[in-house]
Amino acid sequence: MKHEETLLKVENLKKYFPIKGGILGNKTLQQVKAVDDISFEVKRGETFGIVGESGCGKSTVGRTILRLLEPTEGSVYFEGTDLASLDKNSMRLMRKDIQIVFQDPFASLNPRMRVFDIIEEPLINFGMTSKEEREKSVLEVAEQVGLTVNQLKRLPHEFSGGQRQRIGIARALISKPKLIIADEPVSALDVSIQSQVLNLMRDLQKEFGLTYIFISHDLSVVKHFCDRIGVMYLGKMVEIADKDDLYDNPNHPYSTALLSALPSAHPLQKKERIILTGDVPSPANPPNGCTFHPRCFAAMEICKTIKPTLLETKDNHFVSCHLHESKDVVNV
Ligand code: SF4
Repeated sequence: MKHEETLLKVENLKKYFPIKGGILGNKTLQQVKAVDDISFEVKRGETFGIVGESGCGKSTVGRTILRLLEPTEGSVYFEGTDLASLDKNSMRLMRKDIQIVFQDPFASLNPRMRVFDIIEEPLINFGMTSKEEREKSVLEVAEQVGLTVNQLKRLPHEFSGGQRQRIGIARALISKPKLIIADEPVSALDVSIQSQVLNLMRDLQKEFGLTYIFISHDLSVVKHFCDRIGVMYLGKMVEIADKDDLYDNPNHPYSTALLSALPSAHPLQKKERIILTGDVPSPANPPNGCTFHPRCFAAMEICKTIKPTLLETKDNHFVSCHLHESKDVVNV
């Protein structure tokens, strides 16, 4: 299904973390460029995947959108409202519409609270005063994610990883959000449980018209679950495309190398695996030019000095690479 309407627009978003030093420890010596000038859109009703190796900045993107981390620069528009312009209270209320599900359901659930109270808590924070209405909502959402009334009386440590993630999803769903940012939501789970949680998320998406930003390092899971995908490398978005287009025809050498590790969909088709050499450079000191150039199998002289720009090389396929630049492409 084609999703047309823009729900979230991220423009030139940056999140730098200062490295402090000096005699008093208050001098900024360097900046870690965790997210470095990225732009993308998420359409209403779709699942937009953000994929990349550990440390590429994908989780920081999720937290910066929600302003759990304050952006260094750039804008995030949700239904046309610039989230950066909201004061603390308005942003708190906005989180009714944008919720997050974390990777480690155990760490994100208060171990001393009963499951009922954990799921109910956002409703209290968002000002729902009627106890009866809150109870009705908790019971409703518990049923939707497959938790029984008895389970609501227990503490988080009495549950398996998959069940704890159901609690995390229930807590995110209770405020009836429009967008859920799911940050590695199944990475900590066994493979058999992963598909149960993904199926649940998909069912809930159909039922409530949810939009997801799905952050993961796992290319197989992203392929299975997402409609469009953004590939991140060292704080930058290097390629954005529809899922099938990206997996069948990756344009950026980094995407090509990542996807070469996946088994071929056709048993008779042999695939050559591209092994990336060298370590991921430090985001505190990224290479000049294209930050991927020290590891790129297709690097040219220009790549060492000139940064490529994210360009639309064909319909809805954006790439940041000198190999794909021409006079005809559209600058976004
Ligand atoms: Fe490789 Fe150059 Fe493209 Fe960067 S710009 S991905 S170094 S070919």
